[in-house]
Amino acid sequence: MQGLMQDWPLLVSTILDHARINHPEREVVTRTVEGPIHRYTYRDLHGRAKRCAKALGRLGMRQGDVVATLGWNTHRHMECWYGIMGSGAVCHTLNPRLFLDQLNYIVNHAEDRFLLLDVSFVPIAEALQATCPTIKGYVILTDRAHLPETKLKNALCYEDLLAAEDESFAWVNVDERSAAGLCYTSGTTGNPKGVVYSHRSNVLHALAVNNADMLGLRSVDAIMPIVPMFHANAWATVFAAPMSGAKLVMPGGKLDGESVHQLLEDEAVTCTAAVPTVWLGLLQYLETQNKRLTTLQRVVVGGAACPGIVMEKFEEKYGVLVLHGWGMTEMSPLGTVSSLKPNQAKLSRAEQMKYKLKQGRAPYTVEMKIADDAGKELPRDGKTFGHLLVRGPAISKAYFKGEGGQILDQDGFFDTGDVATLDEEGFMQITDRAKDVIKSGGEWISSIEIENLAVGHPGVAEAAVIGLPHPKWDERPLLVVVKKPGAEVGKAEILSFLDGKIAKWWMPDDVVFATEIPHTATGKIQKRDLRERFKDHKLPGVV
Ligand code: AMP
Repeated sequence: MQGLMQDWPLLVSTILDHARINHPEREVVTRTVEGPIHRYTYRDLHGRAKRCAKALGRLGMRQGDVVATLGWNTHRHMECWYGIMGSGAVCHTLNPRLFLDQLNYIVNHAEDRFLLLDVSFVPIAEALQATCPTIKGYVILTDRAHLPETKLKNALCYEDLLAAEDESFAWVNVDERSAAGLCYTSGTTGNPKGVVYSHRSNVLHALAVNNADMLGLRSVDAIMPIVPMFHANAWATVFAAPMSGAKLVMPGGKLDGESVHQLLEDEAVTCTAAVPTVWLGLLQYLETQNKRLTTLQRVVVGGAACPGIVMEKFEEKYGVLVLHGWGMTEMSPLGTVSSLKPNQAKLSRAEQMKYKLKQGRAPYTVEMKIADDAGKELPRDGKTFGHLLVRGPAISKAYFKGEGGQILDQDGFFDTGDVATLDEEGFMQITDRAKDVIKSGGEWISSIEIENLAVGHPGVAEAAVIGLPHPKWDERPLLVVVKKPGAEVGKAEILSFLDGKIAKWWMPDDVVFATEIPHTATGKIQKRDLRERFKDHKLPGVV
């Protein structure tokens, strides 16, 4: 017998329609790239997204076209996002932090038809123009008053285009499995690969993200996604916010501690999300300026492991709940959040922290398992390390144009490239990226855990641990430290700070000080570069 329910297509446009009908007056506030604060409502966003769809259609955008954006988190980027997807075209977010040759490869690989960009990214587009012939036109996301001088051919002014249209546009009724978004992974090995989101996967993922144990956005919330839209859909907040009716606060390109704090307070933000480096910046600002957080209730930390000190400061000093999240571009991106379960509420604070600092547990829609090198499933005992594999309706089954070939195992699981443990409660903890693991005497040492402890030292701004070859143990850890400005701290002090916090054999064999640590375009430590930089470093006792 068949069920007799409607086939209501899970299209991204239904999310904005929902916000328009149910939360028309809820605000969308942006710190614009040009500077001033802009505010309007979901009703306005809906109307302008339709104008944008009409304008792009008039320029020649067709269903199935790939249209690129180079933009910060702003209301205009949101309008383009929904305008493109609502036209049945594919919104391709480009990461402006990538090297030009990577962007060049990506634009040509994706065959982007148009590029919509913020004023601040005009120089990047100019540099790409000659080698990216698929781009037929550039739209600069600003008004006539702020339009810069540019060498871009066919550059158009976004506000002029919108002013010429009305809102009478019917969203295109595509198949819910058709492509809506495209985002290339940062590609630490080989060329970047395109992750293709469908309307269906975006809607299902946003529903999962709005679970109470995940981000759980509600209409009473004000969410500020600091994580960029070009980093995996701003962790789905761009869908989850209008779906819930939460006020949306877009920070533009100013992500320093002071600017972030000002928006959090002025706009009464209750929930926000970013990578740990942003939070370290904010916490430092709060401490040095003696500021408080008066409205913030939860802060999502992800993209890299949350250092204990970040969780401790937010929760104990500022009374803000930390949700440690893990995910990846291929997972839309959220895979886990470390929300405590009722039995853990009875544990001591120290025991709770152990769980909260793990990467967390999966919502319905994400299945996880760990496996050995041969693909055999390993026990969920919280101790055994293995390759972390995932399966679900918002997880990639292939990369764009078949790059990378077959990426699923025989049971349909995708290998995340992370090495992790899973415990009986369903909590997952990442040890390392598989390519960064340190193997000493046949056992794995978690670089992430040592790094996150090291940044707990008051003189340490950032830390990275890499494995160096060792004649007896195969590899031994080297700790690379960037000191806080003015801090006086030496090797012996750092090692004694770590003493007792980690197993003796995890203790780094050496500590070196550096002025900076290299990062990828999505803010992760570039271990490959560090290994190259220190490849001739002699660990003590090694000749
Ligand atoms: P991306 O696709 O750029 O978002 O990168 C995904 C990768 O970032 C994951 O496979 C992890 O290696 C890493 N990552 C994301 N969140 C966390 C986290 N909370 N802790 C440790 N690593 C993380």
